[in-house]
Amino acid sequence: MVQTSRQLFLQHQAQTSDFPLLLEIERAEGVYMYGPDGRRYLDLISGIGVSNVGHRHPRVLEAIRNQLDKYLHLMVYGELVQVIPAELAHALVETLPPPLESVYFTNSGAEAIEGALKIAKRHTGRTELISCLNAYHGSTHGALSITGSESFKNSYRPLLPDVRHLRHNDFSDLALITERTAAVIIETVQGEAGVRIPGPYYLPALRRRCREVGALLILDEIQCGYGRTGSFWAFEQFGIEPDILVCAKGMGGGMPIGAFISSTEIMSGLKTDPILGHCTTFGGHPVSCAAALATLRVIQDENLVAGVAAKAARFRAQLQHPAIRAVRGCGLLMAVEFESFQVLKLIIDHALAHEGILTDWFLFCDNSLRLAPPLIITDEQIDEACAALLRAISEVIN
Ligand code: PLP
Repeated sequence: MVQTSRQLFLQHQAQTSDFPLLLEIERAEGVYMYGPDGRRYLDLISGIGVSNVGHRHPRVLEAIRNQLDKYLHLMVYGELVQVIPAELAHALVETLPPPLESVYFTNSGAEAIEGALKIAKRHTGRTELISCLNAYHGSTHGALSITGSESFKNSYRPLLPDVRHLRHNDFSDLALITERTAAVIIETVQGEAGVRIPGPYYLPALRRRCREVGALLILDEIQCGYGRTGSFWAFEQFGIEPDILVCAKGMGGGMPIGAFISSTEIMSGLKTDPILGHCTTFGGHPVSCAAALATLRVIQDENLVAGVAAKAARFRAQLQHPAIRAVRGCGLLMAVEFESFQVLKLIIDHALAHEGILTDWFLFCDNSLRLAPPLIITDEQIDEACAALLRAISEVIN
């Protein structure tokens, strides 16, 4: 008997929860995904912050096709000169203040976090790493070690030693950063904590404290970077600059790629004692780099960042309902808070099943609805999304 894709998925693809979405998607375009029955879904989460330029942007597809006609993988990271990765590194550096001029490409966000932690330890000669409670930095051992949720980590101990956590936005905890600290890593805007935006003075104070004690500041912009918050890099809005910047997700326009970026001086630690301080076979894959370069150019040429604030305001103006307790947000990274997970889950399920609207909650904030649509979403599509969400809320609440 021929098994359905759903049966194969459930039987042979390792499951990570007992409640996967189980939505079958056949194709995707722009802000929409389509099921095998032709049913259309409006994607309000962008594959968790990935499809900032929408699904299958024509320029991204064209760049991928061009690269497919030249070569795929040639060699492990860092040996051969390849045009597109070199141009991508240059294009990224052009978006950044000096001395952030040296880019290391990885396969994923978590791998970029690993690289960032390693060069911070290498450069400072220190071992202590500090991150924030409720921070999410990835699922590999190092990234998990600095993730700020005990329940996520406990079953996988022992993890990295010498890790401490700050309460986010708490000035008194900055005293925990000392001459022992190699690096403080923080999401410029916390994502999985349910979109937590630092107060206006917090990140500058954190930056100052790091300088005082000689600790490096690593900004994780894997979720909040690449235009999502209304500036190309979220840190541009907070009056600080990192020593090391980490990005991934939206960077590849739907292809897997990440990067950690720092000064040539800090990055030079990867070259000696030992050589090959961070190795990766596929990091900076030319097809991913081609997609990433096109994505960057689309964001720039289509002025996507400039449109973010007005689009976010349009969502906020319409998302008014007695059941909505708060709307937090920084640009198009938004969280809509309800009374409880039970209520939220009913709304999410109803919106998907009856309205064709795809949303989600957050890893460490399960009473809030995740809204992170592609930045290309139009006013009409925002209106369509809000009307459908409000209908779903009213259905569930009554
Ligand atoms: N850091 C942040 C802020 C993230 O949101 C994520 C993924 O959700 C990661 C790191 C890990 O990235 P990846 O899933 O590509 O390993």
